[in-house]
Amino acid sequence: MNEYTVDLAVPERVVAVGAHPDDVEFGCGGTLAKWAAQGCAVHHVICTDGSKGTWDRNVDVTVLVATRQEEQRHAARVLGASDDVVFLGWTDGELEDGPAQRRQLARWIRRLRPDVVLGHDPWRRYRLHPDHRHAGFLLTDAIVAARDPHFFPEPELEPHRPSALLLFEADEPDHVENVGAQLETKVAALLAHRSQYRSTMDIDDPADESQVERFRQRVADTASEQGRPAGVAYGERFKLLRPL
Ligand SMILES: [Zn+2]
Repeated sequence: MNEYTVDLAVPERVVAVGAHPDDVEFGCGGTLAKWAAQGCAVHHVICTDGSKGTWDRNVDVTVLVATRQEEQRHAARVLGASDDVVFLGWTDGELEDGPAQRRQLARWIRRLRPDVVLGHDPWRRYRLHPDHRHAGFLLTDAIVAARDPHFFPEPELEPHRPSALLLFEADEPDHVENVGAQLETKVAALLAHRSQYRSTMDIDDPADESQVERFRQRVADTASEQGRPAGVAYGERFKLLRPL
């Protein structure tokens, strides 16, 4: 079993990169809430437009995309994010890790200048969803591009090297952030994604408190399981890469 480290020093600025609206909240919402409450500037970057995120065949996709963006802004505010959410705008289900995407994300890293970056683990085995895999590689590749001056040179933007990368959904986790005091905030941020109640939270009727409570318990159970190997009651676990 891996040796775990617990709790990084609170960073000054972080960027969390998710493939879809709600991925960041599931992966690291508690950690972001904890850091934001201690003065860290938290920025969200969402790679795709979330346009596949419903089981409703008759949905108006334009409305769905706008709804999910509004939900994501709401969730970010719940977590204490410092700024508007950055939407890269690629089509849900069709995200690629190509030069255009890499340049775009590298620009945001150079502009936002995070100490710590968080995102999907692209090396997680047996992962089916292509966007999660591509978002992970897009992030690792964009970090390399952002830190070195000869990648995508930008006269008005200095290269930037973050100090650490935390990968959620990690294949080989080795770091835990204690989020015992942030569980309620994490659940509240997830519940901002109302369009996802049925498909990802198993909530058919939000007025039915027992269904919401069942979801709350699921988040708590996951945090308990993720914290346990590090001796933490409720945690979010990551693969920690540093230096970058
Ligand atoms: Zn996702």
